[in-house]
Amino acid sequence: MSVALYPGSFDPITYGHLNIAQRGLKLFDKLVIAIAENVRKTPLFDVEERLEMIRASLADVDGGDRAEVTAFNGLLVDYAQQCHANVLLRGLRAISDFEFEFQMAHMNRRLAPGVETVFMMTGEEQFYVSSQMVREIATFGGNVGGLVPPHVEQRLRERFA
Ligand code: ADP
Repeated sequence: MSVALYPGSFDPITYGHLNIAQRGLKLFDKLVIAIAENVRKTPLFDVEERLEMIRASLADVDGGDRAEVTAFNGLLVDYAQQCHANVLLRGLRAISDFEFEFQMAHMNRRLAPGVETVFMMTGEEQFYVSSQMVREIATFGGNVGGLVPPHVEQRLRERFA
């Protein structure tokens, strides 16, 4: 059975993340979407809220029932082993993502040679979408419709009301 671990901060989940998750579910038997808790010190949404938003978003995704949504602390490769994941799934947007991802993939391979990192090129409609941009737009009351699912948009509106 192929199990892929898709880690990120998902603060909040966007259609960019969902595009990768949806396509990942076509390739792997199981997808573990995991919030890396120790990445950003002051997230906009706490872990519980982010878990809820990811789970709600998966309701509309084909094969979403084969996805597990969790959170973890510590080293990604340790968590991959804990989940019995043989693949780390990451999305690539622009050249700017490449350098960091390249470094991380090599470091993770060194730490856990049995775990392969698989990259998926961003969807053509999501290449410019990032959680950070979404947060910034929402902070100033801008329209994030079409970048995140409607229930996430609603949460952002409530947060910045
Ligand atoms: P962000 O950079 O949006 O805060 P995360 O840290 O949550 O995202 O990213 C988790 C993974 O999802 C990373 O591999 C990232 O490259 C990928 N990702 C995020 N947004 C997109 C997008 N619009 N298209 C493709 N991959 C994306």
